Amino acid sequence: MLTFGPVPSRRLGRSLGINNITFKHCSYSCVYCQIGRTTEYSVKRGGFYPPEKIYNDVLKSVKRAGKRGEKIDYLTFVADGEPTLDVNLIKILNMIKTLGIKTAIISNSSLIWMDEVKRDLMNFDWVSLKCDSVDEHVWKKIDRPHGELALKKILNGMVDFSHNYKGDLNIEVMLVKGVNDGGDNLKQLGQFLRRVKHNRIYLSVPTRPPAEKFVNKPDEMTVTKAYNILGEKLKNVQLNIGFEGNEFSSTGDLENDILRITAVHPMKIDSVINLINREKGTLSIINKLKKEEKIKEIDYNGEKFIVRTLY
Ligand code: SF4
Repeated sequence: MLTFGPVPSRRLGRSLGINNITFKHCSYSCVYCQIGRTTEYSVKRGGFYPPEKIYNDVLKSVKRAGKRGEKIDYLTFVADGEPTLDVNLIKILNMIKTLGIKTAIISNSSLIWMDEVKRDLMNFDWVSLKCDSVDEHVWKKIDRPHGELALKKILNGMVDFSHNYKGDLNIEVMLVKGVNDGGDNLKQLGQFLRRVKHNRIYLSVPTRPPAEKFVNKPDEMTVTKAYNILGEKLKNVQLNIGFEGNEFSSTGDLENDILRITAVHPMKIDSVINLINREKGTLSIINKLKKEEKIKEIDYNGEKFIVRTLY
């Protein structure tokens, strides 16, 4: 399947997915990968599908969506492997850009040290780069990179790219229990990310069956801690924990608002109370949502936070 969707995405609105890579052709074999272990390990860029075939498929999907009155906000390269392995990426991108829809790509960053990959990514409106750890040992444990990759080169490539890129740059960190969710790992990561000129940092947890059975999501306390450690020094850290949520806007439906907001940011209890008072609601809503196990109250650093329950 070369295209799928459009599907709703909190980060990208309605996104039409483009799969430009053959199954599990990747430079990493992340322990949490939702499509299983990597079978085609590679760091060499090559050709996968003919660009015209991908373009025609995208065109068909865009026309089909248009007929149904469905809006598409982004054409997003989100492959069954690493999309920057495709040597024809820029060619495909230039073809689909003629459709007048914004473009996005979700990359694992492993080839960002290559000039040609940087050049290709520069041309996207929205880029997501993965950065699970800046500690060599942890990186190898969680992302299981191809033997020819060097973490230092990748990190330098990210910094360099971020200072030249003019679009919307997002950093994605997947937290795996007991692997990269420790305080030291996150502090080191936070220090590094201060050098990366980003728009947003997303903290994710595995929500679909992972490649390895030992992979578990961290608990709510750990996620809150991670959010605070990174948020202390970095702008715009958000949770991306598998629930659809938006920014701090109110829809008038208090229950829904609390759930949407806590899906993105753990909220201090005072902020929740302020929101309830502002919307003229009653505080019993907190107990109701707790009873329904939709939210949890967490004590962290002497403060109380309301967080979304991770299922
Ligand atoms: S980089 Fe993406 S596709 Fe590759 S192994 Fe990791 S999660 Fe799977």
